[in-house]
Amino acid sequence: MENREKELLRNYGEVKSEIDRAAEKAGRKPDEIQLVAVSKFHPASDVEILFKAGHRVFGESYVQEAVAKSEELSALDIEWHFIGGLQSKKAKYVAGNFSLVHSVDSSKLAGLLNKKAVALGVKQNILLQVNSAGEEQKSGVSEKMLQNLAEEVMEFEGLELQGLMCLPPFFGDSESSRPYFRRLRELKEKLEKDLGISLPHLSMGMTDDYVSAIEEGATMVRIGTRIFGKRPV
Ligand SMILES: *Cc1c(COP(=O)(O)O)cnc(C)c1O
Repeated sequence: MENREKELLRNYGEVKSEIDRAAEKAGRKPDEIQLVAVSKFHPASDVEILFKAGHRVFGESYVQEAVAKSEELSALDIEWHFIGGLQSKKAKYVAGNFSLVHSVDSSKLAGLLNKKAVALGVKQNILLQVNSAGEEQKSGVSEKMLQNLAEEVMEFEGLELQGLMCLPPFFGDSESSRPYFRRLRELKEKLEKDLGISLPHLSMGMTDDYVSAIEEGATMVRIGTRIFGKRPV
């Protein structure tokens, strides 16, 4: 086996068993938690290695890179997720090309994704990204505007609201992120109750904090560095 293949398979195996362990410790079923392998900045050949090992769900953050990689790997039945900040002018490249868009945070963006999805005759699954720390420069809808945005999204026939996503401030350790994860779960439960809907997904937790995210109810963890190694900056 090539070195890269060995390294990726070892990291992947370790992450999978850590996820299982965290789930069991939290009294949850391991198969309730989906691993989104975040392959941004890493080559299509890395994705191919994990695909051959049975993994299907990959996340990308940059439209151009994501589209190029998915075209290169179009023969493989990969479930691509878009997880990065999305500019309005790029919405048309995303709708219909990703199984799930994690980062919808404005009615303008939702409207553009909807328009394209309707034109294509598809339903685009989305999550609403919440800026739960209220950080000025971060993307994400404020807690205050969340219900409004959810109600708007529910009116769009081209969009299917699946849940919430968050990206807490960077701390580098799992415990510091926990209050944000707990808050996201509370917001999801409140939306479900107030709007009378069911939201299956909570996308939260990355390399440094996925264990506490799982303990707080994550159904999707987005993990890059822990699997693929450091990204070139
Ligand atoms: C890059 C990225 C990740 C993965 O981060 P790691 O710390 O490398 O696991 C997860 N979510 C989003 C939104 C990202 O942009």
